[in-house]
Amino acid sequence: MNIYDVIIVGGGASGIMAALSANENGNQNILILEKNNRIGKKILVTGNGRCNYTNVTMTSNDYNHPEFVEKVFNQFGFSETIDFFDNLGIIPKVEEEGKTYPLSEQASTFLDVFLYEINKRKINVETEQIVKSISKNRETFQVKTVDGKQFNGKKVIVATGGKSLSITGSDGSGFEIAGRLGHKITSLFPALVKLRVESEHLKHLSGVKINTQVDLLLNDEVMQSENGDVLFANYGISGPTILEISRKANELLLEGKKPELRVVLIQSISKAKIIGRFQNSSEKEINQALIGLINKRFISVLLKEAKIEKSNLLVKQLSKEQLFSLINLLFDWRFKITGSLGFEDSQVTAGGIDVNEVEARTLESKVIDGLFFSGEVLDIDGRCGGFNLQWAWSSGYIAGKNASKNI
Ligand SMILES: Cc1cc2nc3c(=O)[nH]c(=O)nc-3n(C[C@H](O)[C@H](O)[C@H](O)COP(=O)(O)OP(=O)(O)OC[C@H]3O[C@@H](n4cnc5c(N)ncnc54)[C@H](O)[C@@H]3O)c2cc1C
Repeated sequence: MNIYDVIIVGGGASGIMAALSANENGNQNILILEKNNRIGKKILVTGNGRCNYTNVTMTSNDYNHPEFVEKVFNQFGFSETIDFFDNLGIIPKVEEEGKTYPLSEQASTFLDVFLYEINKRKINVETEQIVKSISKNRETFQVKTVDGKQFNGKKVIVATGGKSLSITGSDGSGFEIAGRLGHKITSLFPALVKLRVESEHLKHLSGVKINTQVDLLLNDEVMQSENGDVLFANYGISGPTILEISRKANELLLEGKKPELRVVLIQSISKAKIIGRFQNSSEKEINQALIGLINKRFISVLLKEAKIEKSNLLVKQLSKEQLFSLINLLFDWRFKITGSLGFEDSQVTAGGIDVNEVEARTLESKVIDGLFFSGEVLDIDGRCGGFNLQWAWSSGYIAGKNASKNI
């Protein structure tokens, strides 16, 4: 019976990294089991095909469990990642907000390099193997696939990813496998995802893009604030700012709370100046008085929201309440958040294997000796901009290193 030193379930970013790291410890008998007909499918779609593989600004606070990830990043963080890939031939190209891409600007660079290394180091890869269960008998793990095959290993790393964009292979089956092994799975929900909001004006606003501030509010309290592109769409609002806010918004919704989104249309001018502008335009029709201040598509919508029925009313004909309401909307336009698009449209899955049951320093299960986890299958997710792949590399490296010890 062939017993592998380390079996890695899932050949995505963290699984491949785990295999390379396990190999660095001198283990030759490593196996990656991958469901797809090729490894690393998701890597190809990351960073719009350019693979934003890390971020210069990264700290543990960019993740949902900072104290847990810190123990991994302390051992293999940003600079170790840059050096690791540099050694494999991938030169970093740093862009705005610290987002880091390969100089080739091709996500496929990672796959080319990985396949080269896997071949060179004689790491075994079995594709089209859908793992359905893992069990442990004495000192050996049995990894079984849906079509009845069994692979045996001294150590196992589960690196099956989350539930986002399941066409790339990550369909959440790893959560079920870990659950059956006695691990607790925390609530799963899509993160880095477009939000659905309540508004009768979405159809009219669809396609409008602005660069401004958006705030996530709960009972008027600011929970998160982001600056950048905001994009209106038929279903709601998207853009990098919204993706960043989406995790917290979905978390609050899951708790039965009622979060709101505030879009700040006017950022650079004070309220007093805007009041002065309207005073100076008292003879102008209100829709004309708004031209030059905000995107034209917002005008009819804001007038309706401020209960100004006729857009050709002169500014001086507006009631105090109408004018106050309109000015307020320019600085504080609220939308009730009703949900988000689903896992298929999300970049990352929040929730996963409860980190309380995993040793942070080694990523070994506290429930079953010799079982390790890495990547998105754990209840770890980060901000948009290279942070999730950074977690996949770092956790893969640490899981691989520790799984390959004492064999
Ligand atoms: C569109 C999109 C763009 C993204 N862009 C970025 C970006 O630019 N920067 C960034 O940092 N992050 C990005 N991410 C997030 C990032 O890709 C993931 O967080 C990261 O790939 C997670 O790595 P992983 O190895 O844990 O999981 P995955 O990469 O999902 O790999 C899991 C692997 O396990 C396999 N698998 C699953 N179940 C089984 C099973 N039962 N048996 C066998 N194999 C199985 C899957 O087929 C898959 O190959 C993006 C995500 C998406 C969807």
